[in-house]
Amino acid sequence: MLRFVGGLIRPYRSTLAVILLCMLVETAMSLATPWPLKIILDNVIGDHKLTPWLHHLLHPMLERGDKLHVAALAAVALVLIAIVGSAASYIDNYYTESVGQWVAHDLRMRLYQHLQRLSLRYYSTHETGTILSTLTADIQTIQGFASSSTLSILVDLLTILCMLGLMFWLNWDFTLIAVAVTPFLLLFVSRFKKAVKKATHEVRKEQSAILAVAQQDLESIQVVKAFGQEKVEEKLLFDVSEATVGAALKARSIKALLSPVVNITVALCTAVVLWRGAALILAGSMTIGELTVYLAYLAKFFKPVKDLATTTNAVAQAAVGAERIRSILDTDAVIPENPDGLEPETLAGEIEFDHIAFGYDADNPILTDLNLKIKPGQFVGIVGPTGAGKSTVVSLIPRFYDVQSGTVHIDGHDVREYKLKPLRDQIGYVLQDTVLFRGTILENIAFGRPDATKDEIIAAAKLANAHDFIMAMPNGYDTLVGDRGSTLSGGQRQRIGIARVMVRNSPILLLDEPTAALDSESEKLVIDALEKLMKGKTVIAIAHRLSTIRDADQIVVIAGGVVAESGTHDELMAKNGLYADLHRTQFDAGSDKVESPQPQEQ
Ligand code: ADP
Repeated sequence: MLRFVGGLIRPYRSTLAVILLCMLVETAMSLATPWPLKIILDNVIGDHKLTPWLHHLLHPMLERGDKLHVAALAAVALVLIAIVGSAASYIDNYYTESVGQWVAHDLRMRLYQHLQRLSLRYYSTHETGTILSTLTADIQTIQGFASSSTLSILVDLLTILCMLGLMFWLNWDFTLIAVAVTPFLLLFVSRFKKAVKKATHEVRKEQSAILAVAQQDLESIQVVKAFGQEKVEEKLLFDVSEATVGAALKARSIKALLSPVVNITVALCTAVVLWRGAALILAGSMTIGELTVYLAYLAKFFKPVKDLATTTNAVAQAAVGAERIRSILDTDAVIPENPDGLEPETLAGEIEFDHIAFGYDADNPILTDLNLKIKPGQFVGIVGPTGAGKSTVVSLIPRFYDVQSGTVHIDGHDVREYKLKPLRDQIGYVLQDTVLFRGTILENIAFGRPDATKDEIIAAAKLANAHDFIMAMPNGYDTLVGDRGSTLSGGQRQRIGIARVMVRNSPILLLDEPTAALDSESEKLVIDALEKLMKGKTVIAIAHRLSTIRDADQIVVIAGGVVAESGTHDELMAKNGLYADLHRTQFDAGSDKVESPQPQEQ
C-alpha cells in the first residue's frame, strides 16, 4: 500500500520537501514552547543556574538585577515561538491539502482511463454502483491519507524521540517512570489498528452495496413502478442500509475506545509525575521549572502517540481504498491494443469469420466452429433461436470481445492487426434501443462523429427521418434530452440513433434488431431511414422478424454454435430446413408485427 501511495505522491516531491521543512519547524517550536516559562520560574523567580549558552546570553542582565528584562524577553520568545510555529503550520496545511487533492485527481484519471479501456466482459460481471463507489469514496480515503498522514507519521515519531531525549537530559530516571506505560499504549494502538481496519472494511462494503442497490433500482425505475415492486426494492435498500448502520456503529465503538484509553493513561502518568516531582522538588533535586517542562511535555507526548493511532485509522481506510482501487487497476480484462496496428482510411467491408470459437467464459462455449464470408456491400441477415449467439457474432467484429480461437478478418486482415479506434471508426452500430446521453439533440447526433458540422448533422437527421420531429421540438436541435433519452419515444430515439450512424458514414453497418421494439407506424419511418443508411455498405442485420431481412443477399441461420444454413430466402425456403421452420412458426403464429395491428406512435 505504501509503495502504491508512494508512487502516487512521487511527482510532488518538492512540495513534500516544503511540507516536511514546515513540519520540522512546527515540531521544534512545539518543543520550545514550555522553555520560556521554565526560565521565568527557575531563573527569574528562582535562583537556579542557566544552561551554558543561555548563561552566556542572559547572565549579564541577571547580574545587573534586570530580572524583569529577562522575563520580558521570555515573554517575547513565547510569542515568537507561537508566530513561527503557526506560520509553518499554515503553509504545511495548505500544501498537504494541495498534494492530497492532486494525488486524488491523478488517481481518478488513471482509474477512469482504465475503466474506459476495460472490456465489456468486465462490466457484465461487476456492478456499476461498486465501481462508482471506488471512483469516489475510495479515492477520497487515499486523498485523506496522502494529504494528512504520510508525513505526519514521520513528524510524530520525530516529536516523540526529541521529547524523550530532552526529558532524559533533564532527569533520566524520572523520565523512565513518567513514560513507563508507553510500550503498553503502543501495543494497545497496534491491536487497535487491526480491529479498526477490519471494521472499516465492513463499512465500506456495506456502503457500496447501498450504491449498487439504489443504482440498479433507479436505472430500471419504470419497470419497478410498472410491476409495483417499490416495496420490494425498499426492503432491499432497507437491509443494506441497516447493515451499514450496524457496521458503522461497530466500527465507531472500536474507534471511540482510543480517546478514553489515552486520556486515562495521560492522567495516570501526570499523577505519577506530580506526586514524584513534588517529592523531588522538596528534596531539592528538581526545579519547579523542570517539573513544568515535564508536565507540558507529558501532555504533548501523548498527542503524537494518539495521532499515530488516529493516523492508523486513516492508514487502515486508505489501505482498504487502495486494495479496492488496485483490484480494478490490476484487472487486465482489456482488449489488447496493437500499437503498430493498421489504421485504415476506409475499408471495403469484406468480412470473414474463420473457424471461430467463443464463449463468455471458458466452460460455456457459445460459438464452436463458425464460418462465414461476407462480400463488400453485401446485405446479410442473421437469424436463429434466441440465445444462439447472434449478437455475440456481431460483437466480435468491432472487437468488443476477442475470439478464443479462429480469426475474424476484415478486408483480409485479422481484426487484431488493426488499431482499435480506427477499426471501430469504420463500423456503425444500431441497436434495439438507442441510448442517448444527457445533452442536446445536436450533441447526441454528433456523438457519431464529433467533428461533424451542423449542416452535416442536419443532413443526416433529414435522411434519418428525424429532422421534422426535431424541428417541432421547442428548441429544435438544441433541445435537451433527459437521461438516456427518456423524453423521446422509442421510434424517435431510433431515428436519432440512425442519424448518429449516418454522420459517421462508415462502410460496415451492424444492425441488432433496430425495429424490434417499435410499433408499425414508427417502424415504417425507421425502416425507410435504415434503407437509406444501408446504401453502399456492408450490412449485417440480426433479425427476429424474418420479413425485415427477406431481401438480404445472404441469410445465415446460427444454431448450435455454428452456421447451420445459409442462402437467399428462396434457397432456404426450398431447402425446407431450420429457416423454413422458423418462417412457418412466425407465419402461423401471425407474430410478424408488420401484418398485425399496432398502437400508433404518440
Ligand atoms: P442471441 O443474440 O442469439 O439471442 P446472444 O449472442 O445475445 O444471443 O447470447 C448468446 C448466449 O450468450 C446467451 O446464452 C447469453 O445468455 C450469453 N451472453 C450474452 N451476453 C453475455 C455476457 N455479456 N456475458 C455472459 N454471457 C452472455
